Amino acid sequence: MKVIDLRSDTVTLPTDEMRRAMYEADLGDDVYGEDPTINRLEQMTSEMIGKEAALFTTSGTMGNLLAILAQTRPGEEVIVGSEAHIFWYEVGGASALGGVMLRTVPNDSEGRMDLNSIEQAIRGRDIHFPRTALLCLENTHNRCGGTVLTPDFTSSVVSLAHGHDIRVHLDGARIFNAAIALGVPASDLARDVDSVSFCLSKGLSAPVGSMLCGTREFIESARKWRKMVGGGMRQAGVIAAAGIVALQTTVNRLAEDHANARRLARGLENIPGLSVPRVEVPSNIVMFKSALTVSGADFMRQMATRGVKFGYRGNNRYRAVTHRMVDSADIDEALDRFEQCTKKLG
Ligand SMILES: *Cc1c(COP(=O)(O)O)cnc(C)c1O
Repeated sequence: MKVIDLRSDTVTLPTDEMRRAMYEADLGDDVYGEDPTINRLEQMTSEMIGKEAALFTTSGTMGNLLAILAQTRPGEEVIVGSEAHIFWYEVGGASALGGVMLRTVPNDSEGRMDLNSIEQAIRGRDIHFPRTALLCLENTHNRCGGTVLTPDFTSSVVSLAHGHDIRVHLDGARIFNAAIALGVPASDLARDVDSVSFCLSKGLSAPVGSMLCGTREFIESARKWRKMVGGGMRQAGVIAAAGIVALQTTVNRLAEDHANARRLARGLENIPGLSVPRVEVPSNIVMFKSALTVSGADFMRQMATRGVKFGYRGNNRYRAVTHRMVDSADIDEALDRFEQCTKKLG
């Protein structure tokens, strides 16, 4: 029985072409700036994202942390969405390591924040207040179900923030999913922000790594912070080589993941006992619910024994993510197994 793993697009394994590129990569010591493969990946990335410079990081979590470390000082405040990955899933690193406060503004179901609410959250000049230094957006928005922020929305948030001398970081872990969903280049989505991070290791299928982009000056500072947190890697070209192949070969195919996500959503919606709040899935993340006699945790266990894995969000809510390792036949197979299981459980 094939296990159909829909827990995350991080489970994607490197392609054969990536493995060959890793084997053959030209290497050097990247802490001395001498790894030609890293240098090439950083150059390529800055061109694709439309920023002056880019930096290879171990993970998206490190990319976001460096963006905060390089653009704030301890005691300052960072505005994030109430559903932001930085707020939920990064171990409080911004506070533990950056000494900043995270201030949340509600995310709507599209992953946006209301401009008036942002404005109200921005600190005034009162002597008692911390300074608001940074605002973070997320595109696509993970906890909001892979929703996509348009360049117009991003632009309006950035002009509000810049008007108050606040920088903007975009957590673009899945920025290429957003670009494919909108049919625009990723650089359009990053145009106005000061810094942007994205993952090579999710839908793009590289084994390890993320990129952080911004001005040359910002990247120079982030590089120093990266060294401090232990992210200065030596012959890291061995993994960057896979990242280069990822950018060359796996961006356009994300459209397949989006089509499979819709196929999955439509199928789940037709299974008695399951429902999908947003059948028109914006990218590769499908949120769904159950109304069964068994608990959500039991349902998950039952499905796992049938070889279908997905994420639990509590309260009979689940997340399934499509990616390169599941094709449309696997989606149909998963739907069959969902149907058999829910019929049995009632
Ligand atoms: C996955 C993810 C990250 C973190 O990436 P890691 O490489 O897992 O550390 C950051 N932001 C968002 C929105 C993500 O989905």
